[in-house]
Amino acid sequence: MVFISNVSNTSSLVFRLCNSCTKKLRLRPHLNFSKSSSVFAKCYGLQRRSYIVLAIESSCDDSTVALIDRQPGGIPPRLIEHSKKSLDNTAAGGIIPLDARNHHQTYIAPMVKDLLKKHNIKKPDLICATRGPGMIGSLSAGYNLAKGLAVAWDVPLVGVHHMLGHLLTPRFFQSQENNNKGENDDLKNQADSHSNIPQYPFVSLLVSGGHTMLVLSESTTKHKILANTMDIAIGDMLDKCARDLGITGSMLAKEMEAFINEGPLNKSAVDISLQFPNPLQNKQGRINVSAYSFAGFITSLRINIEKYFPGVKSPATELSVEVRRELARRIQHAIFNHVVTKSYKALETAIDLKYISYRPSPERPLDFVCAGGVASNMTLRRLLHEKLQKKFYLPQPKTDSNNNNNDKDKDKDLTESKVNKEAIRFYYPPPMWCTDNALMVGWAGIELWESCGLYTDLSALPTAKWSIEDVLEMPGWLYRD
Ligand code: AMP
Ligand code: ZN
Repeated sequence: MVFISNVSNTSSLVFRLCNSCTKKLRLRPHLNFSKSSSVFAKCYGLQRRSYIVLAIESSCDDSTVALIDRQPGGIPPRLIEHSKKSLDNTAAGGIIPLDARNHHQTYIAPMVKDLLKKHNIKKPDLICATRGPGMIGSLSAGYNLAKGLAVAWDVPLVGVHHMLGHLLTPRFFQSQENNNKGENDDLKNQADSHSNIPQYPFVSLLVSGGHTMLVLSESTTKHKILANTMDIAIGDMLDKCARDLGITGSMLAKEMEAFINEGPLNKSAVDISLQFPNPLQNKQGRINVSAYSFAGFITSLRINIEKYFPGVKSPATELSVEVRRELARRIQHAIFNHVVTKSYKALETAIDLKYISYRPSPERPLDFVCAGGVASNMTLRRLLHEKLQKKFYLPQPKTDSNNNNNDKDKDKDLTESKVNKEAIRFYYPPPMWCTDNALMVGWAGIELWESCGLYTDLSALPTAKWSIEDVLEMPGWLYRD
């Protein structure tokens, strides 16, 4: 991003060339930035006064509302309060779109009213609401309320892309970590320990109940999907497998993680030959497919249960806890192994095709965000770290002829110069902020508003389908003057 400060004698106008939008934007005089402020302030602290943001997220079955205090002069934003009411889908066994829409229509308006009243806020200065993608009835409930409030209060509305919210969340938390020492302690303490904000270009693995994709982000609005699921989302598949293994609750994959961790694990409780596939691997005529596929895992689980435990019906509650726990561990591992190995392949392909212009190494690390509900799983985090870090960390394989001689050198390489350095710098939102929430929508809205000068026309419709590659292509964006 390039800033050009064009100061004339009477009005100090700031022109900004935003490489996201490649448009020259004229900003209001009061949005000038101070040269002495930190790098963070240059990118984000474009305002002199603080402003209050109301954020609403309702793309699926969680009604969530947040109030954010956007501080001036490079101070990171402060979450005033977040509230969430989730629809209980346990009895229905899945999300019924009409129930979800009614849930939002019942709860979101009172949630907004309560939050404003509690914090004695008459009206916010900016409203950010999820515009898409998601279930249209759910989106409409939150987004249309946001539109109505924007009209009533005469404040701008930013219609936010849901996935953008997920992938920008670590930038919010890292800014807390870096800049807000002593404040927002509850949030700060949950953030991972990296001291940097993910820098463009960075890669995100978005793993949720509705999506599985690897995205390369070059700026707030410029994104490329490096790999996507060919069928269903990872969270959906984990939930299905958990249900078949007799696990109950409203977030089944989360319950399955807890069930596995309750232990004790007994790997020999299930025959060693019972295995699950890793789909889309290389074979003749098909190499390095940059995609994920999860649909086969449930079939494989059922076939295996039928083969190794004949007569057991789904859900497999007749099996002992020990056996179910081992099956849960193996299927969860197989699904995560698939996502990690395919992510690595997709990264390699992106490097070969020069989408990413360098090979990540301890000398030049790549920022890697993992977000979405499934990103709260600690086994996935560990596998990602172990496998990706190792792949890019290790020196390139040597030729056969000098392999033996170089083993010592390889160890030396690892223990000396590169020790404590990372080829991939991982960023995860704190677990409770991995699932859908309004904070991520508010933060993404702030980034769009401040970095790109974008807000949304009040005639713009919510949209069920909206690719992250087309953030700016969706009609309805306005540039503030
Ligand atoms: P989202 O769509 O981002 O709200 O995420 C919801 C999905 O994440 C559901 O499929 C959940 O079962 C899944 N999920 C939530 N927590 C975990 C966890 N700890 N491990 C695996 N999956 C999880
Ligand atoms: Zn989501």
